[in-house]
Amino acid sequence: MRLLIVGNGPAGFSLAKELYNDFEVEILDRECAPYYNKPMLSHYIAGLIDREKLFMYSEEWYEEKGIKLRLGVNARRVDISSKRVIADGGSFDYDILVLATGAVVLGDIKKSIEMERMIKESLQFI
Ligand SMILES: Cc1cc2nc3c(=O)[nH]c(=O)nc-3n(C[C@H](O)[C@H](O)[C@H](O)COP(=O)(O)OP(=O)(O)OC[C@H]3O[C@@H](n4cnc5c(N)ncnc54)[C@H](O)[C@@H]3O)c2cc1C
Repeated sequence: MRLLIVGNGPAGFSLAKELYNDFEVEILDRECAPYYNKPMLSHYIAGLIDREKLFMYSEEWYEEKGIKLRLGVNARRVDISSKRVIADGGSFDYDILVLATGAVVLGDIKKSIEMERMIKESLQFI
């Protein structure tokens, strides 16, 4: 059974890592590099860690596990009736689709920060 995952971040990657034995796993991601450890990005840029600590799983690792990794592929639309994801550069069929595309902040981020500050300050009085 074909499991198509859109998003190769921690959510999509962890799912693929967990299920590659049970499904034909294919991952689409618009980024051009395999899974990397985002919290370590600033350490890497600052020269504090080696590349291997950032990219812990090479493209060969995906190949060995039979996971098809499609990098630089931006998913545009899901055609539910034909069970197909339409992306820039092709379309991809699935039996099961997981959208693991992360999240964006909606609304006013300044207000959210202010709210958090208020919560922190409020907690001091409890
Ligand atoms: C520099 C940095 C440092 C961080 N440090 C910490 C930390 O210390 N602690 C912590 O808890 N969290 C940290 N985070 C946040 C953490 O990385 C995120 O919470 C986590 O990555 C969310 O995982 P995710 O898989 O849900 O989404 P994401 O990591 O956002 O992955 C989603 C993936 O989907 C892909 N995608 C999205 N839309 C499409 C599309 N249409 N077609 C194809 N691909 C698509 C994106 O390219 C991306 O690779 C950090 C984030 C960054 C950027």
